[in-house]
Amino acid sequence: MRISVPAEIKNNEYRVALTPAGVHDLASAGHEVFVQRGAGIGSSMPDEEYAAAGAVLLDDPGEVWARAELLLKVKEPIASEYGYFRDDLVLFTYLHLAAGRALTDELLRAGLTALAYETVQLPDRTLPLLAPMSEVAGRLAPMVGAHTLMRSSGGRGLLMSGVPGTWSARVTIIGGGVAGANAAVVASGMGADVTVFDTNVHRLRYLDDHFQGRIKTAASNPLDLDHAVVDSDVVIGSVLIPGAKAPKLVTNDMVSRMRAGSVLVDIAVDQGGCFADTHATTHDDPTFPVHGTMFYCVANMPGAVANTSTSALTNATLPYIRRLARLGWRDAARGDAALAAGLNTVGGQVVNAGVAAAHGLTH
Ligand code: NAD
Repeated sequence: MRISVPAEIKNNEYRVALTPAGVHDLASAGHEVFVQRGAGIGSSMPDEEYAAAGAVLLDDPGEVWARAELLLKVKEPIASEYGYFRDDLVLFTYLHLAAGRALTDELLRAGLTALAYETVQLPDRTLPLLAPMSEVAGRLAPMVGAHTLMRSSGGRGLLMSGVPGTWSARVTIIGGGVAGANAAVVASGMGADVTVFDTNVHRLRYLDDHFQGRIKTAASNPLDLDHAVVDSDVVIGSVLIPGAKAPKLVTNDMVSRMRAGSVLVDIAVDQGGCFADTHATTHDDPTFPVHGTMFYCVANMPGAVANTSTSALTNATLPYIRRLARLGWRDAARGDAALAAGLNTVGGQVVNAGVAAAHGLTH
C-alpha cells in the first residue's frame, strides 16, 4: 500500500505521525512510504533517518497527499488541507469530529474514509491511542509543577524532594487513571509526598498495590478533597468522565485558602478543566496567577516533548497501521472491533454514534 506522512501544520504542533522505525517496519513489509521533507524536524527526527529507513522524501505536501492510499497524521486536517481530500483516501489521525462541524462536513462532502485515533476502543472500553498522550502529560505534570514551584517562576520557592531536615512538597493528584498514575510515578520518584484521589475504589486498590507504600490513596469526596487541596504545594488535576466535561472539583474558594506560591496543574484542561479558574494556556505563556497561586493549564502538554510523544504515538498506532496497510480498511475493521470503532466517516456518512449525535446526524 502507498502510505503518506505529511508535516503537521497546525500551530505549535511538533509531533509527526510516524517515526523512522515505523517507516522501516512498514517499508520492510513491502509498503511504499512517503514522508514530507522536514516532517520529523520538530520531533528531532531528521530526514536522513527517514530516508535510511526506506521512506521516499517529498517536498510538496500536495504530492504527499496525492500519492497516498493511507494518509497518517497527528492532528485533524485544517482548512488549507481540505482541498487534498478524495473519496478513495483513508485518513488515520486524531480527528475530534464531535467538536468540529466544518471538518465533518468536508470529510462527508469528499466521501473520504476517516478513522480517528481517539475513538479506537478496546473491549474493556480503554482507549489505546489516547493512553500514550495521557502517559506523557501525566509524567510531565510533576516536572512543570516542580519548575513552577521555583521562586523565579512565581512559586513558593520549594524543592519537590526537599533536602534532609526539610519537608518535601505535598502533591495531591485528583484522578488516578492513566495520567494520574503516571503523575504519581514521577512525583514520588522526585521524592514528593504524594496522595492520589479517585472515586473508583478498585482503581485505588490497584494503585496502592502497585506503589507499595510510596504514595497514599484517598477516596474522592468534596470534604476530604478540600482539606487536601488547601494543604497542598502542588495539585494535579487528571480526572476524566468519558464523553462529559470535567467536573469542577477545585473551587475558587479552595484556591483562596491555599498557601501563596502553590501550584495547580490542570491536565484535564482539554475537557474544560477540573479547577473552577482554569483556562487553556500555551507553552509560550503557560501559567497565570489566582489568589497568589500559579495555574498551569497547557492543553497540548505532549507537544513540549515531541520526540517522546511521537515515539509513544507510533508505538501505539503501528499495530493498527500495519493491519490497515496489509488488509485494507474494510477487512482490517471487520477483523478488529477496536479498529472498527475508530471509523468516523465512510462514503459520505457518519458511522460513529457519538459524532452523529453531536451534530444531530443519522448514522
Ligand atoms: P482515565 O480515564 O484513565 O482516568 C480518569 C480518572 O479520573 C479515573 O480513574 C476516574 O475514576 C477518575 N475520576 C472521575 N471522576 C473523579 C472525581 N470526581 N474525583 C476523582 N477522580 C475521578 O483518563 P486519563 O487518560 O488519565 O485522562 C485524564 C485527563 O487528561 C483527560 O481529561 C484527558 O483528556 C487529559 N489529557 C490532557 C492532556 C494535555 O495535554 N493537557 C494530554 C493527555 C490527556
